[in-house]
Amino acid sequence: MTLAGSREREVALDAVRSAARLTRSVRASFTPDLATSKPDRSPVTVADLGAQVLVSLALSAAFPADPLVGEEDASQLASPPIRDALEERLAEVRPGLDGRTVAEALDRGGSTGGPAGRWWTLDPVDGTLGFLRGGQYAIALALVVDGVVQLGALGCPALGRADGSVGGLFVAERGAGAWELPLDGDGDPVRLRVASCATASEARYAESLEASHSAQDEAARIGELLGISAPPLRLDSQAKYALVARGDASIYLRIPRGGYVENIWDHAAGSIIVEEAGGIVSDIEGAPLDWGRGRRLEGNRGVIAAPASIHGEVAAAAREVMGARVA
Ligand code: AMP
Ligand code: MG
Repeated sequence: MTLAGSREREVALDAVRSAARLTRSVRASFTPDLATSKPDRSPVTVADLGAQVLVSLALSAAFPADPLVGEEDASQLASPPIRDALEERLAEVRPGLDGRTVAEALDRGGSTGGPAGRWWTLDPVDGTLGFLRGGQYAIALALVVDGVVQLGALGCPALGRADGSVGGLFVAERGAGAWELPLDGDGDPVRLRVASCATASEARYAESLEASHSAQDEAARIGELLGISAPPLRLDSQAKYALVARGDASIYLRIPRGGYVENIWDHAAGSIIVEEAGGIVSDIEGAPLDWGRGRRLEGNRGVIAAPASIHGEVAAAAREVMGARVA
């Protein structure tokens, strides 16, 4: 099977692969001094920073005019143990990078995106909690043009594949389908299709492992209303979108707690992969995700990803449960 594609796709795949090599190497020899906390108390590791540096450098070399909306910035370099460990890890894969180049590559991710023009968005390690616990995590890169996600590349270094290997690379370009490749080495791309469900009751849904990231009790009520009997699949990161795209799960539910507003880098790559596999991705009201509102999905709350055949049914159930919450 051939997979024709653009230069953007080739650059994105190479960048995600090189970032994944670094995250795997950090994971394989992980020690607590390789992690610290951000001001919001969420964890960040040398893998997050190193992956953003590598992807940012790859994008600025190939597409110097394209802004980047990336999760990380150079503020973490103020901590000497993290800065030194980062320098050491980067030297293994990109010898000769000086501190200033590293800081600039990180800070290049500070763009705000917006409704016009072309920009990339990156979560260098999505699911850092999964990374830390030896579970799922993803390197998520997407290209957005005039408010529409046109390309997504999602590296899932810990995700099992149908042939028993570990490490999947998922890619979609608008209008060209969604595909899975091995993260390492050569292998034929496999075209992805969402599960074929006639009704939602046959579905299995995926959700965050972190109860603080998605209201699992409300998701269970939505599942009940839909007549779903299978237990939810709980895992970290946008690997959930990959599971929906290849039909291992039928639905991804992300039910907001409080007024939480999602970051665009947590959904851009995953969403186009599900859409190009035959799914619909919306917020919990059923409205399309609006990528043009800056670094966060300010116009949306939560996410529902599901096969086109049942998305309407799932969104209706979500409205019923969430409406009851508001009342
Ligand atoms: P997951 O692995 O699906 O739990 O998602 C990980 C992402 O959740 C991180 O990249 C964060 O950006 C995001 N996150 C952090 N806090 C929250 C929250 N309160 N609600 C929803 N998502 C969150
Ligand atoms: Mg994330």
